[in-house]
Amino acid sequence: MQEGTTSTLESGDLRSFALTLRPRADAELLALTGELAARRRELDGRLAAVAAELARRSAPDAGHAGIAQRSGDRTAARLVERTTGVTADEARRLITLGARITDQVDPVGSAVAAGTVSLATADAIVSELDRCAAAVPAETRHEAAAALVALASGLRSAEVRREAREVRDQLDAEGVPDREERLHQQRCLSLTPLPTGMTRITGLLDPESAALVTDAFDQALSPRRGGPRFVDPAAQTRADRILDDAGTTEQLMVDTLVHIVNLAATADPGELFGQTSPAVRVHVTAGDLARHAEGEGSGAAVLEGQAEAVSPATAERLSCSGAIPILFDATGTRALNLGREQRLFSPRQRIALAARDGGCLIPGCDRPPAWCEAHHIHEYSLGGRTDVGAGVLLCRFHHRWLHLHRHRIVRGGDGFALRHAHTGTATPLPSKQRIRVGDRLRT
Ligand SMILES: [Zn+2]
Ligand SMILES: [Zn+2]
Repeated sequence: MQEGTTSTLESGDLRSFALTLRPRADAELLALTGELAARRRELDGRLAAVAAELARRSAPDAGHAGIAQRSGDRTAARLVERTTGVTADEARRLITLGARITDQVDPVGSAVAAGTVSLATADAIVSELDRCAAAVPAETRHEAAAALVALASGLRSAEVRREAREVRDQLDAEGVPDREERLHQQRCLSLTPLPTGMTRITGLLDPESAALVTDAFDQALSPRRGGPRFVDPAAQTRADRILDDAGTTEQLMVDTLVHIVNLAATADPGELFGQTSPAVRVHVTAGDLARHAEGEGSGAAVLEGQAEAVSPATAERLSCSGAIPILFDATGTRALNLGREQRLFSPRQRIALAARDGGCLIPGCDRPPAWCEAHHIHEYSLGGRTDVGAGVLLCRFHHRWLHLHRHRIVRGGDGFALRHAHTGTATPLPSKQRIRVGDRLRT
């Protein structure tokens, strides 16, 4: 290291330090960045260790005698947040990572102690691997963590997180449906009227909902939000109109949302809508899909554009209601098809399905056709044919439920029946069409 660099770094005057940067060569500036980053990792590690010690002294068994409570803070994290000025998330991260530094067998704690990874990177590894089910042995986790630490140098922490997520889904493929369900349970949307007269929308979408919603907006606002380039003159005119619109993309998002709500609100509840947006692509290995269909095994699928894996059950359900399944070989590297031509129910077939089933076929469910998806009784993803006789209406909830629990719908008598995956019993599924129910009551 150069003499000058050291003296400038040690200099207490930040403003003159900033001014000495101006004439420096690029290489020198980059070297300085690396050096400061190393010092920062060291300092962050120490801060984490102190935060963990504060947390230890604030443990619940210390009660009011705990240091956090004595300082007037409810928790150690609040104390760290207040005294350091970091965010609540950062305070939690300092405490949890700090506690690992003293653990000599923990690869992430050791890497933080050695100053080889930043806290953000350490957190990416730890928080993803910690979401493995308890069934994954500690040694396996440690090996994975060590491999990720080794991989981390030179990668952005977001990239490390993506790698960690993939490793986690491999270690704990059985946990994919649980993690998917947890995310699904966190979905929310709220409308808050503000004093200004505006209303704020806030919410969280689970990966599946996000894939559908994102795609709907992308399509409606293409080319503002990604989307294809057009060769067809009509599509090009439409694209130009969207590009030339004086509104910002965010304003057009609102217009699109209102338009979609308008369409939905004025739709005939007795008519089955279009299907799951066909541009959603779901990547899954053929083996995982086949094993799921046979009622065994586990695995993971990925919705294009979404970071979190979904279960093969979800992949199967989405492809049966219109998403494009892209099947991969066992290694997950070679695509066996490239989104084969879609064979969705035609508008005429949808009218026939709506008229025949009258809504979700599951007993006790009152969702009308407009709220339903068309389920293929011979799974579309496994080569089922798209004719009306192979489709039944299920609401989104019951469609999820059916695939998740591997129940099957089979032909029975002159209609359909639900074959329970665990008991094997078959429950008849009479049509919800009122006219037909009336007929039955009369006989
Ligand atoms: Zn289905
Ligand atoms: Zn239902």
